[in-house]
Amino acid sequence: MDLSERYPSLHVSPHPLVAHKLSILRDVGTDTKKFRELVRELTWLLGYEAMADLGTRPRTVETPLEPTDGAEVDPRVGLVPVLRAGLGMVDAMLELIPTAQVWHIGLYRDERTLKPVEYYNKLPDAATVQVCLILDPMLATGGSSAATVDILKAWGAAKIKQVSLIAAPEGVATLSGQHPDVDIHVAAVDRALNEKGYIVPGLGDAGDRQFGTFAGPSSEPGHEPADETAEVVRRLQRDLQR
Ligand code: URA
Repeated sequence: MDLSERYPSLHVSPHPLVAHKLSILRDVGTDTKKFRELVRELTWLLGYEAMADLGTRPRTVETPLEPTDGAEVDPRVGLVPVLRAGLGMVDAMLELIPTAQVWHIGLYRDERTLKPVEYYNKLPDAATVQVCLILDPMLATGGSSAATVDILKAWGAAKIKQVSLIAAPEGVATLSGQHPDVDIHVAAVDRALNEKGYIVPGLGDAGDRQFGTFAGPSSEPGHEPADETAEVVRRLQRDLQR
């Protein structure tokens, strides 16, 4: 199935450097320090592509020799990392666009139902940015992203994009199905979600691999799935076949 044809909002990077770096990122032998570096480098490359259509306004610049026509990015941009794995993408994006505001919306994925639960939201009443980039290395079920988009649209964000390293087809279907106007920029779309809600082949738990928190069986991809988790994944997979 060519997902980009079915979901025109999906943009899979064609860049060879992205494919190269993603392969090292996936490798189980890549240690935490290297993993973080690669998340940063991939975020630069995907961020560059995701912001290719940002508007600019003209600005006159004085070079040491004479004035010339320049440009500056026009819309105010907000970065919205999905906690916690999205945090590792923030600094790289800020290097690309230092004027961006960073807003935190806390949603966690209920381990059993895989549904997003909101626990932190300090957005001011009216939107302070026009373009929002949601940062989440793994677009898995799409539930957290779709819920974040709901919040950002209600806030008044005019344009919203999702930037992820890897997506599952189920996550693309959920996010594009609920929000076809949200561009999705990824390095790769993988085969599927497994019955525990992990993307396969994927890279494991992006949070644990960035922050070195391999706490025990419950945080490892091999742990026994809850019945509800497997049922949610089966439902998403049935939706995808329609
Ligand atoms: N979150 C992760 O970190 N990895 C997955 O495979 C799915 C969700």
